[in-house]
Amino acid sequence: MEKIKMTTPLVEMDGDEMTRIIWKMIKDELLLPFIDLNTEYYDLGLAERERTKDKVTFDAAYANQKYGVSVKCATITPNKQRVEEYNLTEMWKSPNGTIRAILDGTVFRAPILIDSIKPAVRNWKKPITIARHAYGDVYKATEYRVEEEGKAELVYTNKDGKETFRETVYDFECGGVLQGQYNKDSSIVSFAHSCFQYAIDTKQDLWFSTKDTISKKYDQTFKLTFQDIYNKDYKEKFEELGITYFYTLIDDAVARVIRSEGGYIWACKNYDGDVMSDMVSTAFGSLAMMTSVLVSPDGKYEYEAAHGTVTRHYYRFLKGEETSTNPMATIYAWSGALRKRGELDGLSDLVAFADKLEESCIDTLNDGIMTKDLVGLVEKGVNARAVNTLEFIRAIRERLEKKLA
Ligand code: NAP
Ligand code: MG
Repeated sequence: MEKIKMTTPLVEMDGDEMTRIIWKMIKDELLLPFIDLNTEYYDLGLAERERTKDKVTFDAAYANQKYGVSVKCATITPNKQRVEEYNLTEMWKSPNGTIRAILDGTVFRAPILIDSIKPAVRNWKKPITIARHAYGDVYKATEYRVEEEGKAELVYTNKDGKETFRETVYDFECGGVLQGQYNKDSSIVSFAHSCFQYAIDTKQDLWFSTKDTISKKYDQTFKLTFQDIYNKDYKEKFEELGITYFYTLIDDAVARVIRSEGGYIWACKNYDGDVMSDMVSTAFGSLAMMTSVLVSPDGKYEYEAAHGTVTRHYYRFLKGEETSTNPMATIYAWSGALRKRGELDGLSDLVAFADKLEESCIDTLNDGIMTKDLVGLVEKGVNARAVNTLEFIRAIRERLEKKLA
C-alpha cells in the first residue's frame, strides 16, 4: 500500500513520562506504517526544556503560529519536587501556559463517547464541549484579609496620574476579606472569536453564559462583546450552516445542560469553565477519554489530550511492571491534528485516514478490548477485557489495516 502524502509540516511537540512512551507507540504502530509523516519535531520533554533554557517551548509555539496546526504530548509542569527530580536550574513555566499566551487561544475540551460507557446524566447522547476563557478574573485577582475596622475603596488612576474613579466597596465594622478582579477587552474579544470560529469549524451550536444580571458591568461586558462580534462577523455564516448562537444566564444554562442531549459548545468564563469542565468530564466518564484543542482567534490549532503525563503509571513502567494506560485521548490528538492539516491542505486521503483511525479506536472498544481504567466503567453485562497499552494499540492497528486495505 502506498503511504498517504502530506504537504505542510505538522508541528509535533513531544512530552514526558508515560505519555512520551505512548507517543512513540502511536507513531510506530498507527501512523508511520500508513503516512509519509511530515512533522517539524520539537522535544518539549523536561530534559530538553532544561537544556535549551525553555527556548524549545517558545520555538514550538512560534512554529505552531507559522504552520497553523500542532499536536502536543502531555508535559510536566515543574514544581519544587520536579526541580529536584530533574535537577533543574529553574522552575520552568507550564508549556501549555507559554503556548496559550503566544497563540492567545481558548481551550476546548470534549469527551470521546462509546456505547458501553453511559454518561452519569442519562439523556446526554452527544459530547458537550466546554470552552474556558483562561485569562484573568479570580485567577489573577488581588486579595487580602483585613483584621480591623476600616474602609475599602476601589480606585482607578489613569496614566496621567488623574484619579478617574473612586467608590467605597465596603465600610468594615470588623475583620473580613477583599478581592479585586479584572479582565481586558482584548482578551474577551479573542475568546469570542475563538469560540465562534470553533463552532463554525465543528458545526455545533455555541452557548455562552455569565451572571450578567448581578454583575452589570463586568459580566455584562462579556455578554455584549460576544453579541457584538456575533452580529458583525459571524451571524451570516452561522445561519448558512444552520447553527445557532445562544446566550443565557449561567443558572439557566446549568439547568438546560443537564436536560439536554449534548452536541454543542458551552463557553464559560474562567472560573465557571474550570468548575464545569471537571463536572462535565467526570459525568461523561473518564479524564483519559477527554480531548483538548487550543484554538487561537486567527485560526491556529493545537491538539492534545486533556490528561497529564500519568506519572504513577510511568514509575511502574520504569520498574518493568506492565501498564495499561489509556492512549485514546492522545490518539485523538493526532487524528484531530491530521484531519485539520488535511482540511487546510485539501488532502482528502489524510482526512479519511483520521476518520478511519478514530473509527478503529471505537470499534476496538466496542469489541470489548480496552485499557484497565475503562473496564471498570462499562455497563453491566458488557463483555470487556483489559489489555496493556501496546496490545490495545495493536488491536486498533488490526482494525485500521482492514479499513485502509
Ligand atoms: P494525570 O497525569 O492526568 O494523571 C492522574 C491520574 O489519572 C493517573 O494517575 C491515572 O489514575 C489517571 N489517568 C490520567 N490519564 C490516564 C490515562 N491516559 N490512562 C489511564 N489513567 C489515566 O495527572 P497528574 O498525575 O496530576 O499529573 C502528572 C503530570 O502531568 C504532572 O507533572 C503535571 O504537571 C502534568 N500535567 C500535564 C498536562 C498537560 O501537559 N496538558 C495536564 C495535566 C497535568 P490511576 O493512577 O488511578 O490509574
Ligand atoms: Mg478544574
